[in-house]
Amino acid sequence: MQNQIFAIAVDGPAGAGKSIIARLAAERLGFIYVDTGAMYRAIALFCLRQGIRPEDEKEVSSGIAEAQITIRHQNGTQRVLLNGEDVSGQIRTEEVGKTASAVSAYPAVRAHLLDLQRGLAASASVIMDGRDIGTCVLPKAQAKIFLTASPKVRAMRRFKELKEKGEMCNLQEIEQDIIERDRRDMTRKTAPLKQAPDAVLVDGSELTIDQVVERIIREAVFRGLKVE
Ligand code: C5P
Repeated sequence: MQNQIFAIAVDGPAGAGKSIIARLAAERLGFIYVDTGAMYRAIALFCLRQGIRPEDEKEVSSGIAEAQITIRHQNGTQRVLLNGEDVSGQIRTEEVGKTASAVSAYPAVRAHLLDLQRGLAASASVIMDGRDIGTCVLPKAQAKIFLTASPKVRAMRRFKELKEKGEMCNLQEIEQDIIERDRRDMTRKTAPLKQAPDAVLVDGSELTIDQVVERIIREAVFRGLKVE
């Protein structure tokens, strides 16, 4: 759709709908969608498999030297490889998500993934979602979105998702979990979740997925993206 390299950063808390929205926007724009949460999840899976204790920063920081994360794109879908093995399916569990939230607070873990994230944005136009993309990973991204939704709305979405998968779940527990994960992501010392000063805030609580996708595309065009 366009020749220039362009980067759209989408940050926000867990369950705000970043991944589905970023994937659809990428499809519309012919961009590569990069899900950085999946990279942290792959690191978390590595720790779980190796018996590395997530609460032990030293153990995690030295252990992950053996974890090589690579990304492949297949028909617009991102695949995450851990030491050559495609673990894209195995990283989508609550346990891996919780572990990712814990280990992602460590500077060594963030540093381990930074080159990979920046390298992807240097080679093609991307829409990258995460927690610190607009603030740390791609501070010069042309368009930045901070996508949020109320904890209640996010918990309800997650509840429906798990129900559809046939998993046992409790709405209140999910909401508590979301609030706790937000707290951890927002208060950590390294690369906390926060809105970049030049990011636009989009509250998706009352919007449809398509409306949010439109909003992102409008922002990118406003920031100079040329679409035919
Ligand atoms: O987005 P997702 O839930 O897959 O991310 C898993 C965890 O990875 C988050 O709870 C967050 O702590 C961490 N993360 C991060 N920085 C990013 C992306 C994810 O710290 N850029």
